[in-house]
Amino acid sequence: MAFESLSERLQEIFKKLRGKGKLTEKDIKEAMREVKVALLEADVNFKVVKDFINSVTEKALGQEVMESLTPGQQVIKIVNDELIALMGSTQSRLNIGNKVPAVIMMVGLQGSGKTTACGKLANLLKKQGKNPLLVACDVVRPAAIKQLQVVGANVNVPVFTMGDKVNPVDIAKASIDYARSHNSDVIIIDTAGRLHIDEELMEELVNIKKAVQPDEILLVVDAMTGQDAVNVASSFNERLDITGVILTKLDGDTRGGAALSIKAVTQKPIKYVGAGEKLTDLEPFYPDRMASRILG
Ligand code: GDP
Repeated sequence: MAFESLSERLQEIFKKLRGKGKLTEKDIKEAMREVKVALLEADVNFKVVKDFINSVTEKALGQEVMESLTPGQQVIKIVNDELIALMGSTQSRLNIGNKVPAVIMMVGLQGSGKTTACGKLANLLKKQGKNPLLVACDVVRPAAIKQLQVVGANVNVPVFTMGDKVNPVDIAKASIDYARSHNSDVIIIDTAGRLHIDEELMEELVNIKKAVQPDEILLVVDAMTGQDAVNVASSFNERLDITGVILTKLDGDTRGGAALSIKAVTQKPIKYVGAGEKLTDLEPFYPDRMASRILG
């Protein structure tokens, strides 16, 4: 299960703290050293860990904690609150306003779960009473259009395609007119991925962005890739100024680094998490629930 090892490590550290009664400065510093190692081993970004530990230590050494009757418990509460803050404090909703159709552009590397996430999001929006349209703008990967059509059929959402011989920018533009004439109020654009970030891909995405002015640009990243997911998020964000992240494969054995680092590194929130291959496996991301899950 995701975060298992981090969760176990933190529970052990906190058990020791709780068992001590009164805490000395040395106790707290020692515990924080252990928390630091646990976070680094969970593949949390180094700078994020450093800032996190500094912030928790400063608060934990405050008078109220040291003089309280349950200092161990207070320290755990501080860690919990700081974890929540690290992940963005509150749940970040989709920002699709009054424009019809609203435009959601999905971006991400190949294999991250982007096409699946398009279907999951369409399914979710449909359940919320929206009338989504999926748009096939990945004209590079041979089976991409077909895959989106299968996903669309599974969630009963129409798919707009112009085949793979048309420029994706033109497809994206045409899909807006199509949506208007077919009563679709939100379009979800599946864009091309690559195995690695490359300039050609970024240029294509920037051009699509310019052409359709998305309300949301959601980057899909694979939680299993840890620090790489964070680096990918930084690169996409630099070029595209993304509006949020969908973190997939959280059902896997991820150590947790991506979930804990992305917001702090990119300043962009995780909006949804994917926790399975089924098209119903998409949930809003709640920082407080994630913190509880990590702290056990
Ligand atoms: P794309 O290349 O980014 O479009 O990725 P796909 O949507 O084709 O997904 C790649 C693989 O990851 C597929 O086998 C999906 O079933 C799988 N996948 C996607 N999201 C999740 C998830 O949240 N959990 C798990 N376990 N697998 C996922």
